Amino acid sequence: MAAVRVRPSARARLWTRLWLGALAGAASAAPDLVRIVGLFDPGDERQEITFLHAVDRVNREPGLLPGVHLQGLVERVPLHNSFQATRRVCLALERGVAAVFGPQTASTSWHVQSICDAMEVPHVESRWDFRPRRADFSINIHPHPSTLSNAYVSLIRQWHWHAFTIVYEDAAGLLRLQAMLQAPTPSEFSITIRQLPPQSDDFRPLLKRIKKNAGTKILLDCRLSTVPSLLRQARELGMMNQYFSYLITSLDVHIVDLDEFKYTGANITALRLVNPSDPAADDVIRRFMTPPTAAQTRETEVALIHDAVLVFARALHQFGRSLHTQSLSCGTERGWSQGSSLLNFMKLVRLPGLSGPVQFDGEGFRTEVTLAITELSKDGLTRVGTWSPDQGANYTRNYGDKMQEIEQSLRHKTLVVMTTVNEPYAMLVNESDTTLTGNARFEGFCIDLVNEIARLREFYVQFVEGGSYGGIDPITGEASGMVKELMDQKADMAVTDLTITYEREQVLDFTMPWMNLGIGILYSKPKKEPPQLFSFLAPLSLEVWLYMAATYLGVSVLLFILARFSPYEWDNPHPCREEPDVLENQFSLPNSLWFTIGSLMQQGSDIAPKALSTRMIAGLWWFFTLIMISSYTANLAAFLTVERMVSPIESAEDLAKQTEIKYGALESGSTKNFFRDSKIASYQRMWSFMKSARPSVFIKKASEGVERVRSSQGRYAYLMESPQLEYVVERDCDLVQVGGLLDTKSYGIALPPGSPYTSTISNAILILQENGTLHALKTKWWKEMKGGGACKRNAKKSSAAASELGLDQVGGVFVVLLAGMAAACCIAICEFIWKSRQLNQAAHVSTS
Ligand code: ASP
Repeated sequence: MAAVRVRPSARARLWTRLWLGALAGAASAAPDLVRIVGLFDPGDERQEITFLHAVDRVNREPGLLPGVHLQGLVERVPLHNSFQATRRVCLALERGVAAVFGPQTASTSWHVQSICDAMEVPHVESRWDFRPRRADFSINIHPHPSTLSNAYVSLIRQWHWHAFTIVYEDAAGLLRLQAMLQAPTPSEFSITIRQLPPQSDDFRPLLKRIKKNAGTKILLDCRLSTVPSLLRQARELGMMNQYFSYLITSLDVHIVDLDEFKYTGANITALRLVNPSDPAADDVIRRFMTPPTAAQTRETEVALIHDAVLVFARALHQFGRSLHTQSLSCGTERGWSQGSSLLNFMKLVRLPGLSGPVQFDGEGFRTEVTLAITELSKDGLTRVGTWSPDQGANYTRNYGDKMQEIEQSLRHKTLVVMTTVNEPYAMLVNESDTTLTGNARFEGFCIDLVNEIARLREFYVQFVEGGSYGGIDPITGEASGMVKELMDQKADMAVTDLTITYEREQVLDFTMPWMNLGIGILYSKPKKEPPQLFSFLAPLSLEVWLYMAATYLGVSVLLFILARFSPYEWDNPHPCREEPDVLENQFSLPNSLWFTIGSLMQQGSDIAPKALSTRMIAGLWWFFTLIMISSYTANLAAFLTVERMVSPIESAEDLAKQTEIKYGALESGSTKNFFRDSKIASYQRMWSFMKSARPSVFIKKASEGVERVRSSQGRYAYLMESPQLEYVVERDCDLVQVGGLLDTKSYGIALPPGSPYTSTISNAILILQENGTLHALKTKWWKEMKGGGACKRNAKKSSAAASELGLDQVGGVFVVLLAGMAAACCIAICEFIWKSRQLNQAAHVSTS
């Protein structure tokens, strides 16, 4: 703190010196004497001293007022007593003053202003005034509230405070923050406004309400004396940690003792008008300020009064000795002729004051305000940047410095990390082992991930078990599960298979993703079809078999007919006789059938066509059989060796189309919300089905979902996220993923809103991703640990076994052979009986 207590004796001496100087000036009544009057509220002792000190300073500054002596008159005006104020001003005007300064109270100041307006005497104010217009003869050195509001708005924008709470003490506070409430786009900020309880020092109920509504960003507009007690009560309620940010609107917060909050981690920011690095400011403040009863000791007011006198002196400098004050009577309408020129000179003044560069616009509003941005650190409230209307907030430290600061604050700290027991992210090492305590109880991918991050960023970890994943109820807006617990700062981060969603991102902070995924369908492996006896028929469809049979008959008959037509197919059965009575044709119907079947079976026959027509038929038939038999043989191997699976569902659409197989997701999670919010017709249908299914198809834990699929024998499919699905099918060979992924999203580490650690942990994740640690951890927990790769090994074994053909596959061929042989036997017997009967009949005929 820049201010130093002024000893009472020193103060008394200063008083005496200043008053003697003033009296001496009055006694001489020389023509170059210029009087100004300062009106002060009772108790504004320090302001009076500053006023007189500034007068003394300008009198002593060489070359500033040559030949002119400035005399400061001091009048105390009772609070809110306009009658007295008017009387005092009129008395001063009668003595002939060149300007009236003060007072600080609005109601009395307005009266003084109207008198000055009427008498045409400049009225110099240094108080907070929200009115958008100045009176004609008035100039105010205090920055306009809209300028201050702009500064707060620009900081809030820079910090990305989309939702925050304004805590104010009185109506003036709200006026002060008007610009913020009228931010250009109303949707830009979500602002909650709360008033501190009037006439009560107990702010706890209000603070509790703010905390309950997840208000972690607070803009505090209250009296300086209220600040420490409010922050103390906030600390009692756990609202003074790294997740809470306070922007205090008073320009004098640095004179309040905030040492007790230095190590809480809370972000406390304030703006300061007085430049503490200015040696002149330091000198004035050291001489006239008395901490720690800071309520009345506002450094800004002191600096502004000082600067106001300097502005007046600079304007007076332009006049030199040509300025003549005159006695004015409030009873007349005659004003001071030089008042207006003096005021205009004042508006043109530019000087580096204690309150930064001083400059006015044509209306007498201060422009070019520069504010120091101060933040509470372990060295107290320190300046971290400046704000100006043209350049906005300008921080002296860069992003790297800020990150370093955060990493420093994280070092050796213990962070509470919330996780859920869910394979393979976090698992209990041994549930029955009660000797294990603390972090030793947990193992898994996320546990390793957090330990790696903690190793990189040098912090300690305490794992705790969280509830369900949770989210925000779209109807009630209530948070649930781990989302709520993080919002309530029950943990510093949640590391589990927590999906980054828009809804969660609104209320939590997420790091860079550490794994990408999508929703998949877990289902029982389809049943193998039992091998069929006649599977040798399978390579060709029934239709093709029928066509082949028809073609065979057709070609045989055609061959028979064409052979009858063609003369070259008729042979002489007795070549020794030149003119035979009968000619013979080898293509009888049975022979035609025999010829075509012989070539179809790739065996040939002893019959050969001789005519061009029959040879053409034979040639094309051979070509046909060549293609058909080659196709059949090629397909036969595949049909006999590959085991066919039949699955009733192949995709999410298949699921949506049927009602026989039930399907569901996790009770409280993003998968369920994906279907709830989907605009795709089939997913909407799935959502309606899941919602109305009785008994419920939603389950509490992923492991329960997997178990339900396992035991349902194909009557339940579980919609789950792909990494865990991969993990399950890697180990349980009876389960498979059906279809592709329905969406793409990522897992991230969630932190309470406004957590300072988000960026540094994101950076650590990137490092782990780039150096391959994340990949190695995934391989470890998915493929190697806990029986990983079991199904791959089984698949290899079974594919080796599948290369032999069993009787199941080729048994049909034996059946056909046996049936053929049996048929041949029957036909042979028939032939025998037939021939015997014929011979018998012939014998009868010859004997009779
Ligand atoms: N990982 C999901 C979540 O964060 C859980 C799920 O819905 O499958 O909500």
